[in-house]
Amino acid sequence: MGLSPHNGWMRLTVIGCSGSFPGPDSPASCYLLEAEGFRLVIDMGNGALGVLQRYAELFGIDAICVSHLHADHCIDVGSYWIARQFAPDGPKPPIPVYGPPGTAARITPVLGPEAHQPQHPPFDFRDLAVGKIEIGPFYVTTDHMNHPVETFGFRVEHAGARLAYSADTGESDALVRLAEGADLLLCEASYREGPDNTPNLHLTARQAGEHATRAGVGQLVLTHLVPWNDRERSRFEAAQAYHGPLSLATTGLVLDPAGRG
Ligand SMILES: [Zn+2]
Repeated sequence: MGLSPHNGWMRLTVIGCSGSFPGPDSPASCYLLEAEGFRLVIDMGNGALGVLQRYAELFGIDAICVSHLHADHCIDVGSYWIARQFAPDGPKPPIPVYGPPGTAARITPVLGPEAHQPQHPPFDFRDLAVGKIEIGPFYVTTDHMNHPVETFGFRVEHAGARLAYSADTGESDALVRLAEGADLLLCEASYREGPDNTPNLHLTARQAGEHATRAGVGQLVLTHLVPWNDRERSRFEAAQAYHGPLSLATTGLVLDPAGRG
């Protein structure tokens, strides 16, 4: 039986999972969440808008949620602004874009003066804060991650399915709380094991596994995989610390967080 986002289930499609910059096989961070016909895009890094069009109609996105304002998580929000503003049949109506305070100021200058301040902006920017919000059919819990700029991790719940997303983070008790008992943890694994990793910035794959084990998640999917790392090495290192179902994100990977596919 195929996965259908129209029968009440939540479907996650990995659009981009390359860490820090696009790789040869994937854009930077971007995930498409669908349920009840609603499409929520979480993060929109470099190159994401191109691949996103393989999995969703260009103007079929209902909301965007940005974890933080590093370019590899947000810069294609600007690309999508251009698409919606200059659509051939006229500007598209605004959709909500949730992000840390300052998201509009980060995104709009890259558009250039012609697009900077239109009469009908294509986005309705809304500040994220720690807590709970409803976005379409999704119940979203947010908390601050351990990263040099304000960064939100997410727990998304729908129809009994629970998905957690680390965004970018160093070691974080808040991530363990967000992921507590989740069916699926989508967790960054940027670093290789080694003595030279900057603390409070990113996780190694082993640390991602440790967070998954502490949170008792049903499955772990490693993401934000940096192109210069060996993916299989990351899988091996995570498996030392997490003994449940473990996989690596790839562009186009479709997941049903509750495993009912
Ligand atoms: Zn970052």
